[in-house]
Amino acid sequence: MTAMPTTLRTNLLGLPRPALEAFVEGIGSKPFRGRQLMNWMYKRGESDIASMTDLAKDFRTSLATCADIRVPEIVTEQRSTDGTRKWLLRADASQAFEMVYIPEPDRGTLCISSQVGCALDCSFCSTAQQGFNRNLSTAEIVGQVWLANHELMKDAAETGVPTRPGGSPRPVTNVVLMGMGEPLANYRNVVPAMQILLDDLGYDISRRRVTLSTSGLVPQIYRLAEECSVALAVSLHAPNDALRDQLVPINRKHPIADLLEACWVYLEKQNGRCITFEYVMLDGVNDSEAHALELVHLLRERPVKLNLIPFNTFPGTRYHCSPPQVIRRFRDVLNEWGVIATIRRTRGDDIDAACGQLVGRVQDRTTSRLGEKLFSVVVQA
Ligand code: SAH
Repeated sequence: MTAMPTTLRTNLLGLPRPALEAFVEGIGSKPFRGRQLMNWMYKRGESDIASMTDLAKDFRTSLATCADIRVPEIVTEQRSTDGTRKWLLRADASQAFEMVYIPEPDRGTLCISSQVGCALDCSFCSTAQQGFNRNLSTAEIVGQVWLANHELMKDAAETGVPTRPGGSPRPVTNVVLMGMGEPLANYRNVVPAMQILLDDLGYDISRRRVTLSTSGLVPQIYRLAEECSVALAVSLHAPNDALRDQLVPINRKHPIADLLEACWVYLEKQNGRCITFEYVMLDGVNDSEAHALELVHLLRERPVKLNLIPFNTFPGTRYHCSPPQVIRRFRDVLNEWGVIATIRRTRGDDIDAACGQLVGRVQDRTTSRLGEKLFSVVVQA
């Protein structure tokens, strides 16, 4: 059999269980082969079909002519002094996207991207400055988890220091869709990716350990409530529409009252514990005691947690981070009125891996004499 060119082959990595079973049936095999393939790809981290030794040789041969397992290509990797690691992954010749791994003793959180760039134009986010390039495919979204596990386990094998947070089988125990892009604007590819993360034959991550963060695409929150069960984080950032219209422009279409209503329905449908609201602390903009009291008014007696994020700066921004004592005071006012609020510890800021610092533009600089391409990340001013 002649093999298909790579571009025409099906990438098995992006297929949720039913689609994978249908695919193997389509090439004349039994659906359970699909389940075996999932085991190889996700549990064992194998990307070479020929090495999947408990699959019949004939099946492997016919599969390899029309399918393969393609993971994103690493452009660069950076390590922070606090153990955080950031990888820049190739989307095409000039564009890239990023993922960040944040190790803690009891968990390993991977922050993944859902789009290259972002169209939502939040005024305090550096990803917004590069505009929107394209949606990531399901394979590119799941591929980030595959790749991070692969890289971290490779390191563990080389150094002899195991990376198994809390004794888990793999380094990535939690996934947050808080990298580049608006996940609900890429609903079609994001939901199948999350299904693979949750599937017990996939990554088997519990629904409380997969968090989707959205700027507030209300219709898609209702849809998600029916179709996929994950923890929801919502980028609130302002306690009233006048201010939120400026910071998160999607608010002009879906104002706070509509957004909160969608959140409560989401919790009810999913029997969820609570919604996390993200609130970036911008000096003199949204950080006064009056703002905190407005938040209390909105959120009191609701099952919510407020995550106060110190603003991470980037070149060209007009904003500054609120001083630490202002952030602490803001948290205390919320807590005094019964709204649970915590301050997010900033990780990886020495490698621009913190919230809102992901830019992912690759500049192609053919500077080498030998003609190799040298890449570098350009943070746009
Ligand atoms: N588009 C999604 C996920 C992206 S970012 C969303 O809006 O929720 C994850 C979080 O980081 C969001 O709450 C986002 O508003 C916040 N963020 C963006 N830029 C930031 C910055 N410069 N400093 C701190 N947090 C930022």
